[in-house]
Amino acid sequence: MYDFAIVGGGIVGLSTGMALGKRYPSARILVLEKENNWAFHQTGNNSGVIHSGIYYKPGSFKAKFCRDGSRSMVEFCQEYGIEHEICGKVIVATDKQQLPRLENLYKRGLENGIEVQKISSEEVKEIEPHVSCVGGIKVFSTGIVNYKQVCLKYAELIQQQGGDLRLNTKVLKISPSGNNQVLETNKGNFETRFVINCAGLHSDRVAKLGGVEPSAKIVPFRGEYYELTPEKRYLVKTLIYPVPNPDFPFLGVHFTRMIDGSVHAGPNAVLSLKREGYTKTDFDLKDFAEVITYPGFWKLAAKHADEGIQEIIRSFSKAAFTRSLQQLIPEVQAEDLVPTHAGVRAQALMNDGSLVDDFLIVPGENSIHVCNAPSPAATSSLEIGKAIVAQIPQLSHLETVVTA
Ligand SMILES: Cc1cc2nc3c(=O)[nH]c(=O)nc-3n(C[C@H](O)[C@H](O)[C@H](O)COP(=O)(O)OP(=O)(O)OC[C@H]3O[C@@H](n4cnc5c(N)ncnc54)[C@H](O)[C@@H]3O)c2cc1C
Repeated sequence: MYDFAIVGGGIVGLSTGMALGKRYPSARILVLEKENNWAFHQTGNNSGVIHSGIYYKPGSFKAKFCRDGSRSMVEFCQEYGIEHEICGKVIVATDKQQLPRLENLYKRGLENGIEVQKISSEEVKEIEPHVSCVGGIKVFSTGIVNYKQVCLKYAELIQQQGGDLRLNTKVLKISPSGNNQVLETNKGNFETRFVINCAGLHSDRVAKLGGVEPSAKIVPFRGEYYELTPEKRYLVKTLIYPVPNPDFPFLGVHFTRMIDGSVHAGPNAVLSLKREGYTKTDFDLKDFAEVITYPGFWKLAAKHADEGIQEIIRSFSKAAFTRSLQQLIPEVQAEDLVPTHAGVRAQALMNDGSLVDDFLIVPGENSIHVCNAPSPAATSSLEIGKAIVAQIPQLSHLETVVTA
Protein backbone atom coordinates (compact mmCIF):
# COMPACT_ATOMS: atom_id res chain seq x y z
CA MET A 1 0.00 0.00 0.00
CA TYR A 2 1.39 3.38 -1.04
CA ASP A 3 0.37 6.86 0.06
CA PHE A 4 1.17 8.46 -3.29
CA ALA A 5 1.60 6.92 -6.72
CA ILE A 6 2.96 9.10 -9.51
CA VAL A 7 2.33 8.09 -13.12
CA GLY A 8 5.19 9.29 -15.33
CA GLY A 9 8.93 9.53 -14.77
CA GLY A 10 9.58 12.73 -16.69
CA ILE A 11 10.86 15.85 -14.97
CA VAL A 12 7.43 16.83 -13.60
CA GLY A 13 6.67 13.41 -12.07
CA LEU A 14 10.13 13.11 -10.54
CA SER A 15 10.18 16.65 -9.14
CA THR A 16 6.76 15.97 -7.61
CA GLY A 17 8.07 12.77 -6.04
CA MET A 18 10.96 14.69 -4.54
CA ALA A 19 8.71 17.47 -3.22
CA LEU A 20 6.34 14.89 -1.70
CA GLY A 21 9.21 13.18 0.07
CA LYS A 22 10.35 16.48 1.55
CA ARG A 23 6.89 17.43 2.77
CA TYR A 24 5.85 13.98 4.00
CA PRO A 25 9.05 12.21 5.08
CA SER A 26 7.23 9.07 6.24
CA ALA A 27 5.04 8.74 3.13
CA ARG A 28 5.31 5.66 0.90
CA ILE A 29 5.89 7.06 -2.57
CA LEU A 30 5.76 5.12 -5.83
CA VAL A 31 6.78 6.38 -9.29
CA LEU A 32 5.70 4.35 -12.32
CA GLU A 33 7.34 4.91 -15.70
CA LYS A 34 6.49 2.83 -18.75
CA GLU A 35 9.87 3.25 -20.47
CA ASN A 36 13.19 1.67 -19.52
CA ASN A 37 14.71 4.99 -18.46
CA TRP A 38 13.77 8.26 -16.78
CA ALA A 39 13.17 11.37 -18.89
CA PHE A 40 12.61 9.26 -21.99
CA HIS A 41 10.13 11.53 -23.78
CA GLN A 42 9.70 15.33 -23.68
CA THR A 43 12.22 15.86 -20.90
CA GLY A 44 15.01 13.92 -22.56
CA ASN A 45 14.54 15.45 -26.00
CA ASN A 46 14.27 19.13 -25.26
CA SER A 47 16.53 22.11 -25.94
CA GLY A 48 18.18 22.02 -22.52
CA VAL A 49 17.54 25.70 -21.86
CA ILE A 50 17.04 27.14 -18.38
CA HIS A 51 14.55 29.77 -19.49
CA SER A 52 14.47 33.15 -17.78
CA GLY A 53 10.72 33.73 -18.03
CA ILE A 54 10.74 36.79 -20.30
CA TYR A 55 8.01 35.58 -22.67
CA TYR A 56 5.15 34.70 -20.38
CA LYS A 57 2.04 36.67 -19.54
CA PRO A 58 2.69 38.55 -16.30
CA GLY A 59 0.80 36.92 -13.44
CA SER A 60 0.56 33.54 -15.19
CA PHE A 61 1.81 30.36 -13.55
CA LYS A 62 4.35 30.11 -16.36
CA ALA A 63 5.78 33.56 -15.57
CA LYS A 64 5.98 32.94 -11.84
CA PHE A 65 7.14 29.33 -11.95
CA CYS A 66 9.74 30.08 -14.62
CA ARG A 67 11.25 33.07 -12.83
CA ASP A 68 11.41 31.22 -9.49
CA GLY A 69 12.13 27.88 -11.16
CA SER A 70 15.15 29.10 -13.08
CA ARG A 71 16.67 30.23 -9.79
CA SER A 72 15.86 26.99 -7.97
CA MET A 73 17.13 24.95 -10.94
CA VAL A 74 20.49 26.75 -10.84
CA GLU A 75 20.71 26.31 -7.05
CA PHE A 76 19.87 22.62 -7.45
CA CYS A 77 22.58 22.17 -10.08
CA GLN A 78 25.09 23.99 -7.87
CA GLU A 79 24.17 21.90 -4.83
CA TYR A 80 24.47 18.56 -6.65
CA GLY A 81 27.31 19.39 -9.02
CA ILE A 82 25.26 19.11 -12.21
CA GLU A 83 27.00 20.75 -15.14
CA HIS A 84 25.21 23.91 -16.24
CA GLU A 85 26.06 27.39 -17.44
CA ILE A 86 24.34 30.74 -17.23
CA CYS A 87 25.46 31.94 -20.65
CA GLY A 88 22.61 34.42 -21.29
CA LYS A 89 20.86 34.77 -24.61
CA VAL A 90 20.07 37.34 -27.26
CA ILE A 91 16.68 37.83 -28.88
CA VAL A 92 17.12 39.70 -32.15
CA ALA A 93 14.93 41.60 -34.58
CA THR A 94 16.02 40.83 -38.13
CA ASP A 95 14.05 43.65 -39.73
CA LYS A 96 12.65 47.01 -38.61
CA GLN A 97 9.05 45.74 -38.59
CA GLN A 98 9.94 43.43 -35.70
CA LEU A 99 11.20 46.27 -33.50
CA PRO A 100 7.81 47.12 -31.89
CA ARG A 101 7.41 43.43 -30.90
CA LEU A 102 10.96 43.42 -29.55
CA GLU A 103 10.12 46.51 -27.50
CA ASN A 104 6.98 44.79 -26.13
CA LEU A 105 9.05 41.79 -25.19
CA TYR A 106 11.54 44.00 -23.40
CA LYS A 107 8.72 45.62 -21.38
CA ARG A 108 7.29 42.21 -20.60
CA GLY A 109 10.68 41.09 -19.33
CA LEU A 110 10.78 44.09 -16.99
CA GLU A 111 7.22 43.38 -15.83
CA ASN A 112 8.20 39.80 -15.09
CA GLY A 113 11.17 40.98 -13.03
CA ILE A 114 13.79 39.62 -15.44
CA GLU A 115 17.17 41.26 -15.97
CA VAL A 116 16.99 42.39 -19.61
CA GLN A 117 18.86 45.02 -21.60
CA LYS A 118 18.09 46.58 -24.98
CA ILE A 119 21.15 46.36 -27.19
CA SER A 120 22.05 47.75 -30.60
CA SER A 121 22.97 45.56 -33.57
CA GLU A 122 26.65 46.44 -32.89
CA GLU A 123 26.31 45.30 -29.28
CA VAL A 124 24.63 42.07 -30.46
CA LYS A 125 27.70 41.54 -32.68
CA GLU A 126 30.00 41.88 -29.68
CA ILE A 127 28.19 38.88 -28.13
CA GLU A 128 27.36 36.99 -31.33
CA PRO A 129 29.70 38.18 -34.11
CA HIS A 130 27.93 36.23 -36.88
CA VAL A 131 24.39 37.48 -36.25
CA SER A 132 22.79 39.97 -38.58
CA CYS A 133 20.04 42.08 -37.00
CA VAL A 134 18.69 45.58 -36.48
CA GLY A 135 18.56 45.38 -32.68
CA GLY A 136 18.20 42.99 -29.82
CA ILE A 137 17.62 42.21 -26.17
CA LYS A 138 20.15 40.58 -23.92
CA VAL A 139 18.60 38.25 -21.34
CA PHE A 140 21.13 37.66 -18.62
CA SER A 141 19.72 34.76 -16.57
CA THR A 142 19.15 32.23 -19.38
CA GLY A 143 21.25 29.11 -19.02
CA ILE A 144 21.85 25.61 -20.33
CA VAL A 145 21.78 22.19 -18.69
CA ASN A 146 21.09 18.55 -19.53
CA TYR A 147 17.64 17.84 -18.05
CA LYS A 148 18.21 14.09 -18.24
CA GLN A 149 21.02 14.50 -15.74
CA VAL A 150 18.77 16.63 -13.56
CA CYS A 151 16.15 13.85 -13.64
CA LEU A 152 18.65 11.16 -12.71
CA LYS A 153 19.53 13.19 -9.63
CA TYR A 154 15.82 13.71 -8.80
CA ALA A 155 15.32 9.92 -9.06
CA GLU A 156 18.34 9.24 -6.85
CA LEU A 157 17.04 11.63 -4.19
CA ILE A 158 13.56 10.05 -4.23
CA GLN A 159 15.18 6.68 -3.71
CA GLN A 160 17.27 8.06 -0.83
CA GLN A 161 14.04 9.31 0.74
CA GLY A 162 12.72 5.72 0.60
CA GLY A 163 10.63 6.10 -2.56
CA ASP A 164 9.90 3.12 -4.80
CA LEU A 165 10.82 3.76 -8.45
CA ARG A 166 9.64 1.37 -11.15
CA LEU A 167 10.72 1.51 -14.78
CA ASN A 168 9.11 -0.56 -17.57
CA THR A 169 5.79 -0.27 -15.73
CA LYS A 170 2.87 1.05 -17.72
CA VAL A 171 -0.36 2.07 -16.02
CA LEU A 172 -3.22 0.47 -17.94
CA LYS A 173 -6.20 1.02 -15.69
CA ILE A 174 -7.10 2.87 -12.50
CA SER A 175 -9.92 1.45 -10.35
CA PRO A 176 -11.32 2.62 -7.04
CA SER A 177 -11.01 0.25 -4.08
CA GLY A 178 -12.80 1.68 -1.06
CA ASN A 179 -11.08 5.00 -0.33
CA ASN A 180 -8.01 3.89 -2.26
CA GLN A 181 -7.17 3.33 -5.89
CA VAL A 182 -5.64 0.39 -7.65
CA LEU A 183 -3.27 1.03 -10.54
CA GLU A 184 -3.27 -1.93 -12.89
CA THR A 185 -0.03 -2.19 -14.82
CA ASN A 186 1.84 -4.66 -17.02
CA LYS A 187 3.86 -5.50 -13.88
CA GLY A 188 0.91 -6.17 -11.54
CA ASN A 189 -1.34 -4.06 -9.34
CA PHE A 190 -0.36 -1.27 -6.96
CA GLU A 191 -2.73 0.15 -4.36
CA THR A 192 -2.41 3.78 -3.30
CA ARG A 193 -4.27 6.43 -1.36
CA PHE A 194 -3.59 9.18 -3.90
CA VAL A 195 -2.66 9.27 -7.61
CA ILE A 196 -0.66 12.02 -9.33
CA ASN A 197 -0.81 11.94 -13.10
CA CYS A 198 2.32 13.41 -14.73
CA ALA A 199 2.04 11.36 -17.93
CA GLY A 200 2.98 14.14 -20.38
CA LEU A 201 1.92 13.11 -23.88
CA HIS A 202 -0.62 10.68 -22.35
CA SER A 203 -1.81 12.86 -19.49
CA ASP A 204 -5.34 13.30 -20.89
CA ARG A 205 -5.69 9.53 -21.31
CA VAL A 206 -4.40 8.76 -17.83
CA ALA A 207 -6.80 11.41 -16.46
CA LYS A 208 -9.67 9.54 -18.13
CA LEU A 209 -8.46 6.26 -16.62
CA GLY A 210 -8.73 8.04 -13.27
CA GLY A 211 -12.31 9.16 -13.97
CA VAL A 212 -11.46 12.77 -14.84
CA GLU A 213 -12.59 14.28 -18.14
CA PRO A 214 -10.03 17.00 -18.94
CA SER A 215 -11.28 20.10 -20.72
CA ALA A 216 -8.49 19.83 -23.28
CA LYS A 217 -6.96 17.11 -25.44
CA ILE A 218 -3.25 16.53 -25.91
CA VAL A 219 -2.15 17.20 -29.48
CA PRO A 220 1.44 16.19 -30.24
CA PHE A 221 3.67 18.70 -32.04
CA ARG A 222 7.05 17.40 -33.12
CA GLY A 223 10.03 19.72 -32.88
CA GLU A 224 12.81 18.75 -35.28
CA TYR A 225 16.38 19.91 -34.89
CA TYR A 226 19.50 20.16 -36.96
CA GLU A 227 22.95 20.33 -35.44
CA LEU A 228 25.82 22.52 -36.67
CA THR A 229 28.79 20.48 -37.85
CA PRO A 230 31.68 20.71 -35.32
CA GLU A 231 33.69 22.98 -37.69
CA LYS A 232 30.84 25.53 -37.72
CA ARG A 233 30.08 25.63 -33.99
CA TYR A 234 32.09 28.83 -33.77
CA LEU A 235 29.16 30.63 -35.43
CA VAL A 236 27.18 30.48 -32.16
CA LYS A 237 28.57 31.50 -28.78
CA THR A 238 25.41 31.39 -26.62
CA LEU A 239 21.72 31.22 -27.54
CA ILE A 240 20.22 33.20 -30.42
CA TYR A 241 16.44 33.58 -30.71
CA PRO A 242 14.21 35.45 -33.16
CA VAL A 243 11.39 37.70 -31.96
CA PRO A 244 8.52 35.25 -31.39
CA ASN A 245 5.10 35.45 -32.95
CA PRO A 246 2.93 36.53 -29.99
CA ASP A 247 0.02 34.34 -31.18
CA PHE A 248 2.04 31.19 -31.24
CA PRO A 249 3.65 29.81 -28.10
CA PHE A 250 6.45 27.96 -29.88
CA LEU A 251 9.40 30.24 -30.15
CA GLY A 252 10.54 30.02 -33.77
CA VAL A 253 13.68 28.17 -34.85
CA HIS A 254 16.69 29.33 -32.92
CA PHE A 255 20.29 28.42 -32.18
CA THR A 256 21.10 26.81 -28.86
CA ARG A 257 24.53 25.94 -27.60
CA MET A 258 24.06 22.75 -25.59
CA ILE A 259 25.91 21.97 -22.39
CA ASP A 260 27.98 19.30 -24.24
CA GLY A 261 29.32 21.98 -26.62
CA SER A 262 27.21 21.03 -29.64
CA VAL A 263 24.98 23.65 -31.27
CA HIS A 264 21.38 22.83 -32.10
CA ALA A 265 19.22 24.69 -34.58
CA GLY A 266 15.47 24.39 -34.23
CA PRO A 267 13.01 23.16 -33.17
CA ASN A 268 10.21 23.66 -35.65
CA ALA A 269 6.64 22.61 -34.75
CA VAL A 270 4.78 20.10 -36.92
CA LEU A 271 1.77 17.99 -36.09
CA SER A 272 3.00 14.51 -35.18
CA LEU A 273 0.92 11.61 -36.48
CA LYS A 274 1.81 9.66 -33.35
CA ARG A 275 1.99 10.91 -29.76
CA GLU A 276 5.50 9.57 -29.39
CA GLY A 277 6.37 9.96 -33.06
CA TYR A 278 9.95 11.13 -33.42
CA THR A 279 10.28 10.68 -37.18
CA LYS A 280 8.21 11.97 -40.11
CA THR A 281 6.98 8.47 -40.94
CA ASP A 282 5.84 7.51 -37.43
CA PHE A 283 2.11 6.90 -37.51
CA ASP A 284 -0.43 5.56 -35.03
CA LEU A 285 -3.99 5.15 -36.19
CA LYS A 286 -5.56 5.75 -32.77
CA ASP A 287 -3.48 8.86 -32.09
CA PHE A 288 -4.10 10.25 -35.57
CA ALA A 289 -7.84 9.50 -35.53
CA GLU A 290 -8.20 11.24 -32.16
CA VAL A 291 -6.64 14.39 -33.58
CA ILE A 292 -8.54 14.58 -36.83
CA THR A 293 -11.91 13.87 -35.21
CA TYR A 294 -11.33 16.59 -32.61
CA PRO A 295 -13.13 19.83 -33.54
CA GLY A 296 -10.51 21.88 -31.67
CA PHE A 297 -7.82 20.70 -34.08
CA TRP A 298 -9.69 21.94 -37.16
CA LYS A 299 -10.41 25.29 -35.52
CA LEU A 300 -6.71 25.65 -34.69
CA ALA A 301 -5.73 24.58 -38.21
CA ALA A 302 -8.07 27.15 -39.76
CA LYS A 303 -6.72 29.93 -37.53
CA HIS A 304 -3.03 29.12 -38.07
CA ALA A 305 -3.11 27.63 -41.58
CA ASP A 306 -0.25 29.85 -42.82
CA GLU A 307 2.07 29.05 -39.93
CA GLY A 308 1.15 25.35 -40.20
CA ILE A 309 2.01 25.21 -43.89
CA GLN A 310 5.29 27.06 -43.33
CA GLU A 311 6.21 24.56 -40.60
CA ILE A 312 5.44 21.59 -42.86
CA ILE A 313 7.53 23.09 -45.68
CA ARG A 314 10.37 23.70 -43.23
CA SER A 315 10.06 20.11 -42.00
CA PHE A 316 10.39 18.57 -45.45
CA SER A 317 12.75 21.10 -47.01
CA LYS A 318 16.20 21.54 -45.56
CA ALA A 319 16.61 24.56 -47.83
CA ALA A 320 13.58 26.24 -46.21
CA PHE A 321 14.88 25.39 -42.71
CA THR A 322 18.27 26.82 -43.66
CA ARG A 323 16.65 30.01 -45.01
CA SER A 324 14.92 30.57 -41.64
CA LEU A 325 18.23 30.15 -39.85
CA GLN A 326 20.00 32.43 -42.33
CA GLN A 327 17.73 35.26 -41.19
CA LEU A 328 19.67 35.09 -37.92
CA ILE A 329 23.10 34.02 -39.22
CA PRO A 330 23.47 34.62 -42.98
CA GLU A 331 26.70 32.58 -43.14
CA VAL A 332 24.95 29.30 -42.24
CA GLN A 333 24.75 26.96 -45.23
CA ALA A 334 22.71 23.77 -45.69
CA GLU A 335 25.89 21.68 -45.66
CA ASP A 336 26.73 23.03 -42.17
CA LEU A 337 23.59 21.36 -40.77
CA VAL A 338 23.01 17.71 -39.98
CA PRO A 339 19.68 16.35 -38.70
CA THR A 340 19.70 15.36 -35.05
CA HIS A 341 17.09 14.18 -32.52
CA ALA A 342 13.50 15.43 -32.41
CA GLY A 343 11.24 16.04 -29.44
CA VAL A 344 7.45 15.88 -29.27
CA ARG A 345 5.56 18.52 -27.31
CA ALA A 346 2.41 17.56 -25.42
CA GLN A 347 0.26 20.58 -26.15
CA ALA A 348 -3.21 20.72 -24.61
CA LEU A 349 -5.79 22.02 -27.06
CA MET A 350 -9.30 23.18 -26.15
CA ASN A 351 -12.38 22.20 -28.07
CA ASP A 352 -12.68 25.81 -29.32
CA GLY A 353 -9.26 25.59 -31.02
CA SER A 354 -7.33 27.59 -28.46
CA LEU A 355 -4.02 26.28 -27.18
CA VAL A 356 -3.87 26.01 -23.41
CA ASP A 357 -1.12 28.48 -22.76
CA ASP A 358 -0.53 28.04 -19.04
CA PHE A 359 0.19 25.01 -16.90
CA LEU A 360 -3.04 23.13 -16.23
CA ILE A 361 -3.44 21.07 -13.07
CA VAL A 362 -6.83 19.38 -12.63
CA PRO A 363 -7.93 17.92 -9.28
CA GLY A 364 -9.86 14.61 -9.19
CA GLU A 365 -11.16 12.26 -6.52
CA ASN A 366 -8.03 11.33 -4.50
CA SER A 367 -6.00 12.31 -7.51
CA ILE A 368 -4.44 15.24 -9.30
CA HIS A 369 -3.74 15.47 -13.03
CA VAL A 370 -1.12 17.61 -14.75
CA CYS A 371 -2.93 18.11 -18.04
CA ASN A 372 -0.65 20.73 -19.60
CA ALA A 373 3.02 21.11 -18.76
CA PRO A 374 4.62 22.69 -21.85
CA SER A 375 7.87 24.63 -21.99
CA PRO A 376 9.20 26.01 -19.62
CA ALA A 377 8.13 23.06 -17.45
CA ALA A 378 11.64 21.62 -17.33
CA THR A 379 13.05 24.93 -16.08
CA SER A 380 10.13 25.29 -13.66
CA SER A 381 10.02 21.67 -12.52
CA LEU A 382 11.03 22.26 -8.91
CA GLU A 383 8.35 24.93 -8.51
CA ILE A 384 5.69 22.86 -10.30
CA GLY A 385 6.48 19.91 -8.03
CA LYS A 386 6.03 22.08 -4.94
CA ALA A 387 2.81 23.60 -6.32
CA ILE A 388 1.34 20.15 -7.02
CA VAL A 389 2.17 18.98 -3.52
CA ALA A 390 0.59 22.13 -2.06
CA GLN A 391 -2.66 21.22 -3.82
CA ILE A 392 -2.80 17.70 -2.39
CA PRO A 393 -5.13 17.45 0.59
CA GLN A 394 -3.26 16.36 3.68
CA LEU A 395 -3.41 12.62 4.38
CA SER A 396 -4.26 12.54 8.09
CA HIS A 397 -1.89 9.70 9.03
CA LEU A 398 1.19 11.46 7.62
CA GLU A 399 3.54 13.82 9.44
CA THR A 400 4.08 17.03 7.50
CA VAL A 401 7.18 19.14 7.22
CA VAL A 402 6.25 22.70 6.35
CA THR A 403 9.03 24.79 4.83
CA ALA A 404 9.04 28.48 4.05
C1 LIG B 1 11.28 19.98 -28.51
C2 LIG B 1 11.12 20.47 -27.11
C3 LIG B 1 11.97 21.47 -26.61
C4 LIG B 1 11.79 21.95 -25.31
N1 LIG B 1 12.71 22.81 -24.79
C5 LIG B 1 12.61 23.15 -23.47
C6 LIG B 1 13.64 23.93 -22.85
O1 LIG B 1 14.66 24.24 -23.45
N2 LIG B 1 13.45 24.31 -21.57
C7 LIG B 1 12.34 23.96 -20.84
O2 LIG B 1 12.21 24.37 -19.69
N3 LIG B 1 11.38 23.21 -21.40
C8 LIG B 1 11.51 22.77 -22.67
N4 LIG B 1 10.57 21.96 -23.23
C9 LIG B 1 9.43 21.55 -22.42
C10 LIG B 1 9.79 20.46 -21.42
O3 LIG B 1 10.71 19.53 -21.96
C11 LIG B 1 8.50 19.75 -21.00
O4 LIG B 1 7.57 20.74 -20.62
C12 LIG B 1 8.74 18.82 -19.82
O5 LIG B 1 9.79 17.91 -20.13
C13 LIG B 1 7.47 18.05 -19.49
O6 LIG B 1 7.80 17.07 -18.53
P1 LIG B 1 6.77 15.95 -18.16
O7 LIG B 1 7.35 15.20 -17.02
O8 LIG B 1 5.42 16.58 -17.98
O9 LIG B 1 6.62 15.05 -19.46
P2 LIG B 1 7.54 13.88 -20.04
O10 LIG B 1 8.96 14.20 -19.94
O11 LIG B 1 7.01 13.57 -21.39
O12 LIG B 1 7.25 12.67 -19.06
C14 LIG B 1 6.02 11.98 -19.01
C15 LIG B 1 6.34 10.53 -18.75
O13 LIG B 1 5.13 9.81 -18.51
C16 LIG B 1 5.32 8.49 -18.98
N5 LIG B 1 4.01 7.85 -19.16
C17 LIG B 1 3.02 8.22 -20.00
N6 LIG B 1 1.96 7.40 -19.88
C18 LIG B 1 2.29 6.48 -18.93
C19 LIG B 1 1.61 5.35 -18.38
N7 LIG B 1 0.37 5.01 -18.78
N8 LIG B 1 2.23 4.61 -17.42
C20 LIG B 1 3.50 4.94 -17.01
N9 LIG B 1 4.20 5.99 -17.52
C21 LIG B 1 3.60 6.76 -18.47
C22 LIG B 1 6.07 8.71 -20.30
O14 LIG B 1 6.72 7.54 -20.72
C23 LIG B 1 7.00 9.84 -19.94
O15 LIG B 1 8.28 9.40 -19.55
C24 LIG B 1 10.73 21.45 -24.51
C25 LIG B 1 9.89 20.45 -25.00
C26 LIG B 1 10.10 19.94 -26.28
C27 LIG B 1 9.25 18.79 -26.74
